Amino acid sequence: MARTKQDILQELKDHQVRFLRLQFTDILGINKVVELPVNQFEKALDGEIMFDGSSIEGFGRTEVEESDMLLKPDYNTFIIYPKELEPTTKGAVARLICDIAYPDGKPFEGDPRQVLKRQIERSQKKGYDNLYVGSEVEFFLFNRSPEGSPTTHTYDRAGYFDLAPTDKGEEARRDMVDMLVRLGLQLEAAHHEGAPGQHEIDLKYTNALQAADHLTTLKFVVKRVAINHGLHATFMPKPIAGINGSGLHFHLSLFKNGENAFYEPKGRLEVWPHQLSKTALQFIAGLFEHAEGMAAITNPLVNSYKRLTPGYEAPTSVAWSVSHRSAMIRVPKRRGAGTRAEFRFPDPSCNPYLALAVILAAGLEGLESNLTPPPPIERDVYELSVRDRRKYRVSEMPGTLREALEALQKDRVVRNALGEQVYKDFLNAKRVEWDSYRIAVHRWELDQYLAEY
Ligand code: GLN
Ligand code: MG
Ligand code: MG
Ligand code: MG
Repeated sequence: MARTKQDILQELKDHQVRFLRLQFTDILGINKVVELPVNQFEKALDGEIMFDGSSIEGFGRTEVEESDMLLKPDYNTFIIYPKELEPTTKGAVARLICDIAYPDGKPFEGDPRQVLKRQIERSQKKGYDNLYVGSEVEFFLFNRSPEGSPTTHTYDRAGYFDLAPTDKGEEARRDMVDMLVRLGLQLEAAHHEGAPGQHEIDLKYTNALQAADHLTTLKFVVKRVAINHGLHATFMPKPIAGINGSGLHFHLSLFKNGENAFYEPKGRLEVWPHQLSKTALQFIAGLFEHAEGMAAITNPLVNSYKRLTPGYEAPTSVAWSVSHRSAMIRVPKRRGAGTRAEFRFPDPSCNPYLALAVILAAGLEGLESNLTPPPPIERDVYELSVRDRRKYRVSEMPGTLREALEALQKDRVVRNALGEQVYKDFLNAKRVEWDSYRIAVHRWELDQYLAEY
């Protein structure tokens, strides 16, 4: 049942909460908070807390005059953190996730959460209940140096699904899972991933807005619990060359009237491959059409493109398969209500609101334009011949952030989904990032050239 303002005030009192954090994300997906003391709680719940958006990425950084913004809390996101999460903070802490509005109450177009809400509304106008999203989040746990700064070292030698009882990382992950469950998130599983120090936590499917909210909670909790264990958690997509990077796989399905609209029980293989409905196929076709255009949003870092290389279980080609991990979309064996497409491109450095917004927009575009996907491929996409690449209409993902930004500029659907404000601010921020990378002299260059030339 939905909480009211009075319920929340009562809970804050009963648990003797001393600080209330109003949380939101900037366009780069970084969690931001305004922390308030007790005398401000009521004002906070009324959505009357104002903050200066001018210092936050994408929130009118340049337009100094128009920078005051209101934080409008979503009562459904209320959480009181258990003491163990922040053992050194005095007094209990609670949080609420917020939408951002102008001082006159009008929704702020540059707010990523509202970018996602707009696409959800669009899907609902077309008669869908929601986009359902299950997330597999991968990350690394590294040691900290004696001074506390993050390293890329781990003592852990375990691999995929291994149980290594003596490993510090395993202990930390167990505490993360425990904390997430106590905060009310539903988890499917958690396990060690392929690379040393690499872990995965799988969130059970839920509606798109809640899925994105949960991802922001997960990032905070994972980082925070890692600190409590003297470790550093990173969602950087490819922290170490030569071993697997970290992905954020989204399991996607549209529901209509409480039923999974991706499932076609009467599906004959030649017409509806794998009992996927026409809706599912069109949605998948939309993801194909806009994979390159979405890349800058789903894979937003210079480093993201070092993950999307052959040989590390990450996809590189715009292709799909029922089973192969090298493809961009995989259709897990589950049928009935569990029928879904696993979209494997995104990585955990993305802003989850923007990523799910452009994914939903691309899928809906597939439905509206009646698109058909190419045939699925049941072989390792890494090893396809030139002829087969043509037959299956396989194209490549952008190889660098720069290429991804070029593809984004050309993609009207993705741009419209973001809205002009977010699009411009995002592009500007990412151009600066690319330029600073371009002019840096990297270790690789010194190793290759310094002695030789
Ligand atoms: N780490 C891989 C990726 O980058 C996925 C590995 C897996 O889940 N099998 O997407
Ligand atoms: Mg997995
Ligand atoms: Mg995995
Ligand atoms: Mg997966």
